[in-house]
Amino acid sequence: MIQSNRRTLIKALAAAGLGAPLAATLNGCSTPFRNARPHVVVIGGGFGGATAAKYLRRFSRNQIDVTLIEPKQTYMTCPGSNWYLAGLTDVPSLTHDYEALKTQHGVKVIHDTVSRVDGDAQSVSLQNGETLHYDRLVMSPGIDFVYDAVPGYSEAASEVLPHAYQAGPQTELLYQQIREMRQGGTFLMIAPPNPFRCPPGPYERVSMIAAYFKEHNPTAKIIVLDPKSKFSKQALFMEGWQELYGSMIEWYGKNDGAIVEELDVANKTVSCELDTFKADVINVIPPQKAAKIAFDTGLTDATGWCPVNQETFESTQKRGIFVIGDASIAGQMPKSGHSASSHGKMCAAAIVSQLNNWAMPRPKNANTCYSLVGAHYGISIAGVYEMQDGIIKEIAGGVSQMGASQQVRKMEAEYARGWYKSITADVWKS
Ligand SMILES: Cc1cc2nc3c(=O)[nH]c(=O)nc-3n(C[C@H](O)[C@H](O)[C@H](O)COP(=O)(O)OP(=O)(O)OC[C@H]3O[C@@H](n4cnc5c(N)ncnc54)[C@H](O)[C@@H]3O)c2cc1C
Repeated sequence: MIQSNRRTLIKALAAAGLGAPLAATLNGCSTPFRNARPHVVVIGGGFGGATAAKYLRRFSRNQIDVTLIEPKQTYMTCPGSNWYLAGLTDVPSLTHDYEALKTQHGVKVIHDTVSRVDGDAQSVSLQNGETLHYDRLVMSPGIDFVYDAVPGYSEAASEVLPHAYQAGPQTELLYQQIREMRQGGTFLMIAPPNPFRCPPGPYERVSMIAAYFKEHNPTAKIIVLDPKSKFSKQALFMEGWQELYGSMIEWYGKNDGAIVEELDVANKTVSCELDTFKADVINVIPPQKAAKIAFDTGLTDATGWCPVNQETFESTQKRGIFVIGDASIAGQMPKSGHSASSHGKMCAAAIVSQLNNWAMPRPKNANTCYSLVGAHYGISIAGVYEMQDGIIKEIAGGVSQMGASQQVRKMEAEYARGWYKSITADVWKS
């Protein structure tokens, strides 16, 4: 039997930012784990999965064996990938490896893809033929795209008109296309409907592309066709666009007739009720759903996402499997790296509690999404979340002030860079 040290756990929980209520409830518990060295398998080494793996080890004082399965040797973050499009950072700065998880935190990392999960047998099968048994399974597999929801688009077409919404080769392709675009050409983005990964992401992206054009292609035009009638931080983005880029960016929403009816990939034309647009570079960000392995395991519902007990992140479809990050339905928390990392900590605490027969208390959560509108022009949206009636609800929050001074925007741009450094250090390094 393994004894978890409650004092160390309480300190670790507080240090991880999960808040006093959680720490207070765990205080006083010293029940040992039921099984000798429980084994938790984590699928996906992104923001959610890597955090869960690290904090499972930390919260259990290394008394849980953790195996992380991730096909990629290194992980390029989506956060910062828009900055890369503007030339403000490079790929190595956005790329993280799993060495610290292995050597500092004792996580066993296997670079492979999970091809099947058997919830009854509590096992996962890898593409290499290996089968692993688990006591608890954490899944943070991210998203997939509903390619054909944009008429004319397909997975094959994304090799020509990239979505660049999973960082990597797609991001580099878009980077190249922007640089090769003719002078005075048109860049067109088809934005996704709700819910999707990183609500401010598409709008930060066009800001960053405008920043590049302003310097290298000043007569270029940017058109956004959006199936929504509004978007995150809209007034702030539009204020920044006007201030920095004049009339370069044109945004059209649902009420303008901007829902795409036909995309002609070969001719790069896009038709909607509003007009037919001819573009030089097209960035299609399709509607999204949970990643394939979540569907294959029967964890999704009719929404295409995974319902979970929002206190613990345990699937409501299959016991013993926890779904975190973008794939999960996490109440009012946005699909973001910051949220996914918080889920990873909450879920790690829930598993440690469950394995010890402790009651899972009510944590508070926070999310901040920074966006760069220009290299020295940052804006943000922040929220604090708490469980109410079984749903994670926003209890406080807000956005940057409209009409703020250049100094304030510059400071927020610095905070954005600071946020990136600290969260990636927390997830993959220290
Ligand atoms: C342009 C852009 C900008 C963004 N900016 C921000 C930002 O500023 N701040 C912020 O908080 N968020 C931002 N985000 C959102 C953030 O990237 C996501 O919310 C975050 O990556 C979600 O984490 P996750 O763990 O759910 O999924 P991911 O990070 O996508 O990780 C999923 C991992 O699972 C692995 N996987 C999938 N299937 C399997 C399988 N069968 N077997 C094994 N492994 C598997 C994948 O290889 C992948 O590495 C941005 C996103 C985009 C697109």
